[in-house]
Amino acid sequence: MDSITLLKKLITFRTTADRIGELEAALNFIEKILKPQGLWIQRLTLKGPNRPVMYACTKKIKRPEILIVPHLDVVEGEADQFKPFIKGQKLFGRGACDCKNHVTVAIQALIHAAKKGKSVGAFFTTDEEIGGPTTSLLLSRGFNGKKVIMLDTDLAIVFRQKGILNLKVVCRGKSGHGSMPWLGINANEKLLRAYEQIKKLFPATTVRDRWKATVNLGLIRGGDVINKIADYAEMLLNIRLTEKGDHRKLIKAIRAVKEVDQVEILSYTPFYSIDPGKKEIQEFKKIMEQSLGTELRLDSMHGATDAHNFAPYKSLVIITGTGFGGNFHGRDEWIEIPGLLRFEKALCHYIDLKG
Ligand SMILES: [Zn+2]
Repeated sequence: MDSITLLKKLITFRTTADRIGELEAALNFIEKILKPQGLWIQRLTLKGPNRPVMYACTKKIKRPEILIVPHLDVVEGEADQFKPFIKGQKLFGRGACDCKNHVTVAIQALIHAAKKGKSVGAFFTTDEEIGGPTTSLLLSRGFNGKKVIMLDTDLAIVFRQKGILNLKVVCRGKSGHGSMPWLGINANEKLLRAYEQIKKLFPATTVRDRWKATVNLGLIRGGDVINKIADYAEMLLNIRLTEKGDHRKLIKAIRAVKEVDQVEILSYTPFYSIDPGKKEIQEFKKIMEQSLGTELRLDSMHGATDAHNFAPYKSLVIITGTGFGGNFHGRDEWIEIPGLLRFEKALCHYIDLKG
């Protein structure tokens, strides 16, 4: 199957991390393509959500020379976003550049590697957008790679990515009739004051320097009716940390804000980095650049990938991606087709030399 047909078909599966049936169907589809090519397939299920995940390898081994890691899950979209279409050089649809372009590349790379007798495997993970527990599951069962190619970003090599701290901050008040605000304590007002204080804990970013800790006030809930003094309010904070940020210190500082009554840690993903001077990374860069005919710049990433899950295993993870796309997580997500094909070819070239 050619890559465009394959990518279009993959987009039609509505693979948000919570749609187990869709994830199963997409994995079945991929398995059906790979099995006849002689690939060894292992499927596991994450207990609790019963979420499936798949490992495929050109050899019957758990640790191939090269492991490719894309993710099959996407963020939610409108129903029509799962009906891909092509306009000019661009292919539109949910997941076109995050991350079904990379799933396509991984499938084609595996087929290529199998034909050439190379040692290449892939994780088809299904919950990167919510922290990647299926990646952890595969790793905990011994699946890994000597060199891990994490496909989940632009046409670059990411040498550092920010950590993520998601918090719920609660403010409590004392209820009373809305006509006599002096009789109570308004939790909504407390929350607004608390956020002003919390914001001061973060340095301002500038156009020239965005590599700083940031906070996004993603959601606010408070009160229940208009004429009552709100006695409960909460906000969800999405915090991004650099190598300098200590999440424990930050949580302590937020707890110390006078108006804050409770802080709950929803999730924490540590900062991740790799030495870009490493021999394997330099080799990858050189080989890819030769084939692509363009520079593969070193990059810092504000968002996250599944890479942090590999940190306890000290794996060599190269975070990269096809690039040539836009509006990821947005309404008109797209990928530029020639760029995708160029990247696929370059990765196959790398496999020929290093797989
Ligand atoms: Zn992604």
